[in-house]
Amino acid sequence: MKLLVMGPPGAGKGSQSRKLVKEFNLTNISTGEMFRQSYERGENLGIEAMKFIDNGNLVSDEITNEIVRKRLFEEGKEEDFLLDGYPRTVAQAKALDGMLNEMNAKLDAVINIVVDKENILERMVGRRVCRKCGYTYHTKFKPSHQEGVCDKCGGELYQRVDDQLESVRNRLKIYEEKTRPIIDYYKGRGVLLNINGMQSFEAVYRDIKKALRDIT
Ligand code: ADP
Ligand code: AMP
Repeated sequence: MKLLVMGPPGAGKGSQSRKLVKEFNLTNISTGEMFRQSYERGENLGIEAMKFIDNGNLVSDEITNEIVRKRLFEEGKEEDFLLDGYPRTVAQAKALDGMLNEMNAKLDAVINIVVDKENILERMVGRRVCRKCGYTYHTKFKPSHQEGVCDKCGGELYQRVDDQLESVRNRLKIYEEKTRPIIDYYKGRGVLLNINGMQSFEAVYRDIKKALRDIT
């Protein structure tokens, strides 16, 4: 199965993707996570990307398409995968179409998680991420057992610079301008699944699975 998970920043893409890849045995390809890990490893790519990310801006299409291409074609061909946070622009969606054509493949579903602005702000400002394994928590909705410490690996939890209010505002603006138009791009193809993200983690996941069952 080839899935794409989209939605505004903080919609719950990462949280739901984590469950989907485990249950359906998919390779998780999160461009945001790839940039953050590259930064933690001290690589030039990550350091350059973080200059855009911290302010809430998008990394260039050229760089982003290239890391996805590498992941899909060079690091072992993936039969089943889930893309989280890519594409984020129409140009990226077109580049992805090109890659899928080369693979003679198509997307089975585009899961669009719908969340309103108030929920987004609360979710993003309370998000905490493990510096070591990338696992995501929320101070109110999903706290770790011990404050500041990852339940999974004992790593340090931190607040992403781009989850601070000013950056969040910029990200939401960019989402509206650059990313929302992709919904129309996929709408005509009969693969778009709109999911209500303003429910518990479990209810959102249940609805995603139901929608996937209905189309397969
Ligand atoms: P995205 O990958 O779309 O940016 P995340 O999955 O990282 O979003 O979720 C953003 C924040 O909101 C995280 O702190 C996460 O724990 C929290 N969150 C995600 N889904 C829900 C939900 N259904 N209810 C409450 N909090 C949620
Ligand atoms: P995320 O982890 O999905 O919230 O992504 C964090 C940040 O990484 C985004 O705000 C962008 O700055 C950058 N990023 C992630 N994916 C992309 C993409 N597909 N195109 C451009 N920038 C991206």
